[in-house]
Amino acid sequence: MKQYIKFSKNKKIHFGIIENNKIHHISSTPFKKYNVTSEVSSFSEVDILPPVVPGKIICIGLNYRDHLNHIGEKPEPKHPEPFLVTPSAIIAHNSPIILPEGASQVEEEAELVVIMGKTCKNVSAKNAKDYIFGYTCGNDVSARNWQKNDLQWTRAKSSDTFAPIGPYITTGIDPDSLDIQCRVNDKIVQNSNTKHLIHSVSKIIAFISSFMTLEEGDLIFTGTPGQPVALHPGDKIEVEIKHLGILTNQVEK
Ligand code: MG
Repeated sequence: MKQYIKFSKNKKIHFGIIENNKIHHISSTPFKKYNVTSEVSSFSEVDILPPVVPGKIICIGLNYRDHLNHIGEKPEPKHPEPFLVTPSAIIAHNSPIILPEGASQVEEEAELVVIMGKTCKNVSAKNAKDYIFGYTCGNDVSARNWQKNDLQWTRAKSSDTFAPIGPYITTGIDPDSLDIQCRVNDKIVQNSNTKHLIHSVSKIIAFISSFMTLEEGDLIFTGTPGQPVALHPGDKIEVEIKHLGILTNQVEK
């Protein structure tokens, strides 16, 4: 297991590998061959950036049984149900989620996010994990009034700041049994495990790659469990997934 972080320090952007709660700078992005340099930073010295700039973000809806009821869906989807979110919605750990004018019932959605490592098309579920680089925490922030009443989900899901990811990328783990939790103001509101995904990470990649080329850095949000709650200005949202750290964002108006 390795953990990679992207951060700024003294107005310069760096990548690092986390060891013993210190950041050891590396010579390139973690997607390329890199050397570990002699420079070391502590977390208090840096601003954490989104760990990757993806070409595209694919999100899977309705992928935990206990979430289907919450939004009034009954049957389980026969195949993964992907929709797109624009990369401009991404924000970093510790950046604010801004509630847009006209949005109501804006809710968090704690999700395991897959970061692709290699180009793939028509990959089988059996081989899908060979194309994954790593994983991070994500929050598929959703404006339910727009999700319910617009014909498309674009502004419900792709408003600025609606895709927090981070705080870092973890590689070399099994994504199929990770505890996932969301806390709002320290109160647990979502609490599950990725073993409850209706369509597993491998099945999702096989399905998406059957019609769309996946490339290095692309993100796949895998769905949210349980019952998200309405967010209000001042709320502190924490998404915590085993091995992936805690993604924290404050809500602002
Ligand atoms: Mg979602």
